[in-house]
Amino acid sequence: MDTLIVNGSLITGDGITFLEKASVRIRGTMIVDVTPYQEASNEGDRIIDAGGSVVLPGMVNAHAHGCIVGPSMPSGSLPLSTEDVSYQRNRHLLSGTTTLLNVCGLATPDEIGSGVLGPHALDIHVSTAHTPSSLAAAGISDGAGLSAQHLAATIDDMLARGAKALGEAGGGQTLGGGAQDYRYLPLAIEKVTGVAIHPKIARQFKEAVLGRRLDGAAAASDDELEGLLDRHALDGHLTAEQLRRIVVETVMPPVHLAMRGLAEIAAQSERVGMAAIFHNAAPTAATIVQLAETYPRARMIAGHSNHPMFLPEEAVTTATLLKDRGVTIDVSTLDCIATRWRNGPENLDHLATEGLIDTLSTDYAGGDWDTILSAIQRMIAKKQMPAPRAVALAAGNVAKAIPELAGDRGLIERNKQADIIICDAHNFARVRHVIAKGRLVVKDARIV
Ligand SMILES: [Zn+2]
Repeated sequence: MDTLIVNGSLITGDGITFLEKASVRIRGTMIVDVTPYQEASNEGDRIIDAGGSVVLPGMVNAHAHGCIVGPSMPSGSLPLSTEDVSYQRNRHLLSGTTTLLNVCGLATPDEIGSGVLGPHALDIHVSTAHTPSSLAAAGISDGAGLSAQHLAATIDDMLARGAKALGEAGGGQTLGGGAQDYRYLPLAIEKVTGVAIHPKIARQFKEAVLGRRLDGAAAASDDELEGLLDRHALDGHLTAEQLRRIVVETVMPPVHLAMRGLAEIAAQSERVGMAAIFHNAAPTAATIVQLAETYPRARMIAGHSNHPMFLPEEAVTTATLLKDRGVTIDVSTLDCIATRWRNGPENLDHLATEGLIDTLSTDYAGGDWDTILSAIQRMIAKKQMPAPRAVALAAGNVAKAIPELAGDRGLIERNKQADIIICDAHNFARVRHVIAKGRLVVKDARIV
């Protein structure tokens, strides 16, 4: 069998190792050797010379949405269109992700969708959140994508059929998070007033009525709400009382059940010994800390620990409490890096500077997610951590946290799956080539 050889500067993904001049040898789908730079020895060998570039493991994104054809989001909403799913997959692959865990949670493993969309070089897997309260919360918040087979599904059945983790436990739709800001609240307000509002204003309304933890703490008075409506030119359209009612009726119905869903999934994680991804935000933080104490053998991952409902100090305090209790701290790019339509990088910066981050993913952010490598590039440029440690957040660290998903990859080492990307040395976010399972699938930034 011919060998594919990649020569260049290498970051292996273990958090430490940088090799200035190395050769990676690939045969079939596997890495067969990593050596100091060597000339090709055989006639048939193919060589990719990555001089001037940097060679990294393919990114493992363990918290994403919108890449499958089953019910979408923890709200069990209708699937995205096949065009949109195809666009999401291509964007992930072109930005250097070779393995992806779609954590919508209520789809079945058959709905990864290779049949409908054809095979894709991005290796896509699903998680399962099929517990009674999670399903009920989805039904209340939306549930339009759920059929009898989803409602009857169980965690054991889904794991037996190939789901790689539990979760996402809770979500922005069911727990008053981002999806309420960009989708549900603007829709509800437009229905009554005819005025379309920006998600940032929807978030202000939500937090003014319910507080950042949805518990009514520090909620605004009627006068303050009138002032807020006035400032956003809605004073002629809504009274304080109407605004209060719209927010409560839109956000709160699934919250109680979704919180029970968190507890069910922590218990299941301890029972079956699989990793579980939790929606970590201001309303759920205290519950997740408590669950980590109640279920010390659960393998808990606190998703998007930089969630915008946290103040920066709160994100740090929560992550510290969780880390002390053995929880893995995941952060998501959301739209914090380049897009910044709704969210900024403050919480991510604080967590990075404090050294609290274990893993890095994209989440969805209404489709506005920025790439993993753009966040890694930012961490390196701002000297928040050395390049090998930043790269490991979406490589070796994910393999360690969820070996069921990525134990055979995420590192450029002998006997690992040959998922390798070649990026510009001065900006890792510019991905030139992608090799997935030993095959060159993106060449000069085009899918081939
Ligand atoms: Zn979430």
